[in-house]
Amino acid sequence: MASAYRGRFAPSPTGPLHAGSLVAALASWLDARAHHGTWLVRIEDIDTVRCQAGMGERILAQLAACGMVSDEPVWWQSQRAAAYGTALAQLVSVGLAYPCACSRRAIEVELQVLGQEPERGQTPVYPGTCRPDHGGLDGRTARAWRMDIRPHTELAWNDRRLGAQAQNVEQAVGDFVLKRADGLWAYQLAVVVDDAAQGITDVVRGEDLADNTPRQRVLQTALGLPLLRYLHTPLVLDADGDKLSKNKGAAALVCDTPTQALVALQAAAQALGLPRSDALTVGEALAEWVRAWGAR
Ligand code: GLU
Repeated sequence: MASAYRGRFAPSPTGPLHAGSLVAALASWLDARAHHGTWLVRIEDIDTVRCQAGMGERILAQLAACGMVSDEPVWWQSQRAAAYGTALAQLVSVGLAYPCACSRRAIEVELQVLGQEPERGQTPVYPGTCRPDHGGLDGRTARAWRMDIRPHTELAWNDRRLGAQAQNVEQAVGDFVLKRADGLWAYQLAVVVDDAAQGITDVVRGEDLADNTPRQRVLQTALGLPLLRYLHTPLVLDADGDKLSKNKGAAALVCDTPTQALVALQAAAQALGLPRSDALTVGEALAEWVRAWGAR
């Protein structure tokens, strides 16, 4: 495995890196280095509604200040629409993707009628209204494209940190969106297509994304792509016990000087259970942590 290892850090440029995203970035970088592998950065700028202008560049600068630079040219998902279109067409051609005419409101009403309203804070599970064998669009206009999850319901996988995991994808998320009603590509499809296109072998990312893994494995299988190894890293919590997130406006990582970068990295390393480094430079501290990571 050693020389074939390819990992990536794939931030969405919806806000600058914060203390939590640095943990995921550092873990993916250390894991790649400890395996003598390749580490890539991919800017996931598909959600043009939420992305901020110039934020991809700012994140790359923050990473570089922390000693982490992509081994190959950075990919930008906004330039990858053709590949996502090809993947969707492939799924449609084997009957695994279908157009959906339902608005969010229509889904809510239908779930109420069916007595299947989501619990508070839960995402509604699409009731399959537009599945081709349920009547399809029935003259309504297609808005989004969805994955028919039925052939791949029970998903089990092994996370390198969390251990054995399982999800019934049909019950947990249902037929998930591949292309949104506003024409934007969904994260699930884009991430799977690009992980495969970049030859990624190992995904190391924050634990908040762990429950996306089954959907991504369903897509990998449906598209005939390799299944990947996963390691989900611990989350950094704020004073209220909530995870730090760009959506909640978590404070941007301050790494304008080498000392600030080292301080930020020390905190990220601590969150990963790595020993404190006495090194005086970012490069020396990273080298120590690569050894410690490889020795675990
Ligand atoms: N772009 C996603 C995010 O920033 C992460 C994607 C991934 O690592 O799979 O939340």
